[in-house]
Amino acid sequence: MQFQEFGLSPEILRAVQSMNYPAPTPIQEQAIPHVLEGRDILGSAQTGTGKTAAFALPILQRLLAAGRPKRGKRTVRSLVLTPTRELAVQVGESFGAYAVHTGLRHATIYGGVSQRPQEQALLKGVDILVATPGRLLDLMNQKLIDLSSVEVFVLDEADRMFDMGFLPDIRRIVRATPEARQTLLFSATMPEDIRQLSAEVLRDPLTVQIGISAPVETVSHAVYPVPPHLKTPLLMELLLQTGDGPVLVFARTKHRAKRIAEELADAGHSATCLQGNLSQTRRQASLNGFRDGKYRIMVATDIASRGIDVAGISHVINYDMPDCADAYIHRIGR
Ligand code: AMP
Repeated sequence: MQFQEFGLSPEILRAVQSMNYPAPTPIQEQAIPHVLEGRDILGSAQTGTGKTAAFALPILQRLLAAGRPKRGKRTVRSLVLTPTRELAVQVGESFGAYAVHTGLRHATIYGGVSQRPQEQALLKGVDILVATPGRLLDLMNQKLIDLSSVEVFVLDEADRMFDMGFLPDIRRIVRATPEARQTLLFSATMPEDIRQLSAEVLRDPLTVQIGISAPVETVSHAVYPVPPHLKTPLLMELLLQTGDGPVLVFARTKHRAKRIAEELADAGHSATCLQGNLSQTRRQASLNGFRDGKYRIMVATDIASRGIDVAGISHVINYDMPDCADAYIHRIGR
């Protein structure tokens, strides 16, 4: 199948063509036609499957096809909720790239940075808003945003939002949107809680499942049983054998991620860390530095690194065991 076959408008196709994607990925092939029809979707897909374009392209198409209604002050036509700030930035950038020729306006809002520029961006209304739940609720409480004309609502990485305790926030946000909306819910895993949430927010959804909860097949795995006091020496040894490629190390706690990154830097490695105690600016700087190759190694906690898409990682090292199989899949599914 080719992108031309979806019936997307030339403005959108031009942007997709400039990305040089060879063909739609399986989730794009399965989801795009149904999102275009207006169906609700329950999508089971992890990061790296192309799920962002699977919802972003048909949403842009629907917004374009509906014409350019006069944007009400502080209104939003399409809302995408993500669990973390980094993922919000990444999804916002994807929308920006796909919408570049459409004239549709988009904004991204998240906590940890000044609210002022975000307020300004919302003032005239936006076609697409990508947001984390906390900052969105803050702005809603201050009456700086109006969700009453949302046409399409996306919950991205719903399982992680649930893990982070955002469920009550999500319910409040859903209540502020019209009932007659289209809703898309994506989740890497489908525990019972997410199924329950789906039943509440989706109407007659189509289920799209890509790669049941199993690691991607191109990844090979190795386990090194080691007593705790030898973990760091083993890590140092492994890093000597991983070549020059980017390495992502996972630690259980923020404190530990920070300490390991410091130890690696002291040993002469170019290492940074990504964990929730850092300011938003520092988090983004770590991530950008890791993406650009300024740092070869990034030590991260699960929550801070959730959904982060970094191309070409050569090794993922689990310094601490993940809590469950799903967390393992998330860590290596990139
Ligand atoms: P996502 O799963 O949305 O985080 O996307 C993972 C990566 O795949 C991103 O870097 C996208 O730019 C890329 N991507 C999206 N769609 C395609 C496609 N059809 N072919 C190749 N790469 C893609």
